Amino acid sequence: MLSKIGKMFFMIVISSVFLAGCSQSKNTGGASNPNAAVKKNFIVVTSFYPVYISTINVTRDVPGVEVINMTKSQTGCLHDYQLSPEDLKTLEKANAFVINGANMEAFLDKAIKQQPQLKVIDASKNIELLTDQNGEKNPHVWVSVSNAMTQVQNIAEQLSALDPANAEKYRKNAGEYSKRLETLRDAMQKTLAGTENRDIITFHEAFPYFAKEFNLNIVAVIEREPGSDPSPKELAETIEKVKASQIKALFAEPQYSSKAAETISRETGAKVYILDPVVTGEAKPGAYDDYIRAMEKNGKTLQEALK
Ligand SMILES: [Zn+2]
Repeated sequence: MLSKIGKMFFMIVISSVFLAGCSQSKNTGGASNPNAAVKKNFIVVTSFYPVYISTINVTRDVPGVEVINMTKSQTGCLHDYQLSPEDLKTLEKANAFVINGANMEAFLDKAIKQQPQLKVIDASKNIELLTDQNGEKNPHVWVSVSNAMTQVQNIAEQLSALDPANAEKYRKNAGEYSKRLETLRDAMQKTLAGTENRDIITFHEAFPYFAKEFNLNIVAVIEREPGSDPSPKELAETIEKVKASQIKALFAEPQYSSKAAETISRETGAKVYILDPVVTGEAKPGAYDDYIRAMEKNGKTLQEALK
């Protein structure tokens, strides 16, 4: 009886080695059978929209690589996000999981506890983090174009380590996309060069990195996170601040309509403009230019609002 079980166990081990060998050869040997459609056999899961956009650029046109965004396009920031059973299923098939890092994915420990084999790519590696008044690290690093460039390089390097067969392609793609981001950043800086008024009021803690990059001065943040409406006292204080500083523009975000913005606008005469932290959008294949487009729009909005 025992030996029978032993034999069966041996066969299972042998067949799984054999299967592993098969999938291994699929990974690297796609080119040997050019007529067969390339199988999607390296699955890269991203945590949310901004990381998705960077990752599809890094993996652009690399055969056999599929990028899946774990959360819904309109989820936005993941500060309080709870993993669903569906998310865990998605992570189960991930050959790599790209996160923003900087503690945006507060659920990460739980995910790793459930799936210790998960290969995590930290896009914010070596990015210097800003801290808020409470000493908390600000995770919205990608809203600075320079940081987005670093994230792209980080993703390419760590992806190359996990999928060395395609390393050259990842690095080439990252280089090309980074160049485009550099052009974008330089153009935005030029657009704002003549602007003397650089005071802005924003909603949600998404803009400190953006402000630093473009030399803007955030006078007040109205809602730290979506849905956390300011108290009447906070609202009154902000209205006083706007009046005292003679700020003419408020910057809301497309992700949530803000009653607070309207109230402040009504009380002070300051106009409400939309700045997009590029945290939501259509996470679909081919959305390569969505970050660049949104940032170009932000540059134009700032120019218009601050002139
Ligand atoms: Zn956020």
